[in-house]
Amino acid sequence: MTVRVRFAPSPTGMFHVGGARSALQNWIYAKQQGGVFVLRIEDTDAARNKPEWTEGILSALDWIGISRGSYEGPHFQSANAGEHRTAATRLYESGRAYYCDCTREDVQARTGSQYQGYDGYHRDLDLGPGPGHALRFRTPDEGTTVVVDLIRGEPTFENKLIEDFVIARGDGSPVFLLANVVDDMTMGITHVIRAEEHLPNTPKQQLLWDALGVKPPVWAHVPVVVNEKRQKLSKRRDKVALEAYRDEGYLAGAMRNYLMLLGWAPSGDREIVPWSVIEDEFRLAEVNPSPAFFDEKKLRAFNGEYIRALPVAEFIDACQPWLIGTGTIAPPPWQPEEFDADAFAAVAPLAQTRIAVLSEIVPNVDFLFLASPMIDEAAWTKTMKDSSGELLDAAVAAFEALDSWDAESLKSTLEAVGAERGLKLGKTQAPVRVAVTGRTVGLPLFESLEVLGREHTLTRMRAARLRLP
Ligand code: GLU
Repeated sequence: MTVRVRFAPSPTGMFHVGGARSALQNWIYAKQQGGVFVLRIEDTDAARNKPEWTEGILSALDWIGISRGSYEGPHFQSANAGEHRTAATRLYESGRAYYCDCTREDVQARTGSQYQGYDGYHRDLDLGPGPGHALRFRTPDEGTTVVVDLIRGEPTFENKLIEDFVIARGDGSPVFLLANVVDDMTMGITHVIRAEEHLPNTPKQQLLWDALGVKPPVWAHVPVVVNEKRQKLSKRRDKVALEAYRDEGYLAGAMRNYLMLLGWAPSGDREIVPWSVIEDEFRLAEVNPSPAFFDEKKLRAFNGEYIRALPVAEFIDACQPWLIGTGTIAPPPWQPEEFDADAFAAVAPLAQTRIAVLSEIVPNVDFLFLASPMIDEAAWTKTMKDSSGELLDAAVAAFEALDSWDAESLKSTLEAVGAERGLKLGKTQAPVRVAVTGRTVGLPLFESLEVLGREHTLTRMRAARLRLP
């Protein structure tokens, strides 16, 4: 039997990091089993779907390493609508489903405070199809439904506690529960690896597989992803969109490595490992069923490590989207013609050790490309003292006298200027840094001045001097 897994996102919003995690787990499982990964876009909720979300999913998958053309699909659920209806009709005709026109209020009026879902009122009333008649599945009165789950063992559900659930709405359209099963069936899916949030659907869906006469798939419900307060990650509260991380400058390698650690870890005391190790070592059965904490701080630190591990040339390449402003990435504050690739290459190794996400490259290097630095006024007020004017005058004079404009000479010169005033280098360089770069933190100062050049450095120091008493 060829293993066939699927990833079945609904294109109703940005691509959730939890979805990306499930996609990767499906992807690896298929690869390990010599199986097939199917992408199915569950686009039947016409009111909430937008084609651009589908494109977003495809490009986000591509970014994370599940590249277009290397999987089966995308199939679209909407294309299978005929099959969904046929299955609903079959279930009705075989007596496994029946029509019902009760409203929620009707059921509540009958069951009062006992209300616990549908009460089976129409089970034997032979209502038949018609406008406003929903089709309900007749769940067995006794017995249990045992879900075989690679991660959770065999969760067992009492059939009598499962209400006669709706499989097609009053307008005849099949609901998610049924469409999802019929698609898995027609696509020959053998393993359903999906988020824990769907576990309550699973006994109902397994009953549908049984009623349609096909052996159900093996299930694997991967743990819910939570924030630091142990709340399920929500798009209203948390940063959940894979695209947002991409645009902020997370590396795909770091991201997918981190996502695979949600509920699982490679052997030994390692977390940052090559993708090939994860592909070898990952075992679905080893995934911890408890909620997995999505630790943004840890992800950031991870990304910093991945950035530092890049060869410099690759780091320079990786920064380009932020230096230029491509696609959904905001343009930098300088004009394209102001950008100087050589100057950037000169400071890139210094920046590479200091940033955790690629977008941070912009505030670190903007002083090199802007005609005058963007002064952070709070930093200015904090740093510039009454004595700073005199200090800058002395520094300008000393720098003007330099024969060689290099980091080492700049440093020893400024050190001497500070020493004459009883100042340590840190205190001496702070006003120079703010004058030249506009900020209190950034790349090593003297290397920055060397790359910026004599003329720009001195012009900025003189301009800052004019603002001081
Ligand atoms: N379309 C469903 C979702 O995005 C997936 C259902 C499934 O994986 O079975 O939640």
